[in-house]
Amino acid sequence: MNPPAPDPRTLAAFEAAKGFMPLDEGLALYAAATEAGALGLPLLEVGTYCGRSTLLLADAARRAGVTALTVDHHRGSEEQQPGWEYHDPEVVDPVVGRMDTLPTFRRTLHAAGLEEQVVALVGRSPQVAAVWGSPLGLVFIDGGHTEEHATADYEGWTPHLAPGGLLVIHDVFPDPADGGQAPHHVHERALASGHFHPGPATGSLRVLRRG
Ligand code: SAH
Ligand code: MG
Repeated sequence: MNPPAPDPRTLAAFEAAKGFMPLDEGLALYAAATEAGALGLPLLEVGTYCGRSTLLLADAARRAGVTALTVDHHRGSEEQQPGWEYHDPEVVDPVVGRMDTLPTFRRTLHAAGLEEQVVALVGRSPQVAAVWGSPLGLVFIDGGHTEEHATADYEGWTPHLAPGGLLVIHDVFPDPADGGQAPHHVHERALASGHFHPGPATGSLRVLRRG
């Protein structure tokens, strides 16, 4: 059976969007979201940025008749601040002088015709997780990459994952030469918890199933 494919309009918007998700990993995320969507529960992303990966959750959510949720304070991660490696001056709000990816995110969703499938949660991930109260079919962790942030995302959101739901983690680099270690540590912790079964790996994307 062929893997499920996103709508061509979704893919065009994905290619045009700013962000940090290569196509092969995006398609693996889409496959996981399609599978998790069958649970009939919302799909949640931590780390919206400009909506590149959100598009794929939204497309899968539309097909499954569920909602995609995406959490971000929209002020950028450490490595995206001015002077750092991943800074993009186009996403600075000139009025307040800080990053603001929310307007760009909204344009991304609009371009794909996927605004109605998505609820944007604007705030700090642990603060949103602390008030969250309903089960999720998928949790995609792609927010802050410090140990503090990645750990808080894991601890805050995985308790909301329904049995059979999927935990997806981006930027898992077992070799420190390839990238930061916090997402890798979260992945190892999930496996060691005994609550998750390992699933497919594509690039730095890892899929685990909650038992
Ligand atoms: N998923 C995106 C990339 C996300 S980049 C893509 O595929 O293109 C990481 C994002 O996490 C940034 O936008 C940053 O603002 C957000 N972030 C970092 N720490 C956060 C926190 N503690 N709470 C909410 N958002 C956070
Ligand atoms: Mg990432």
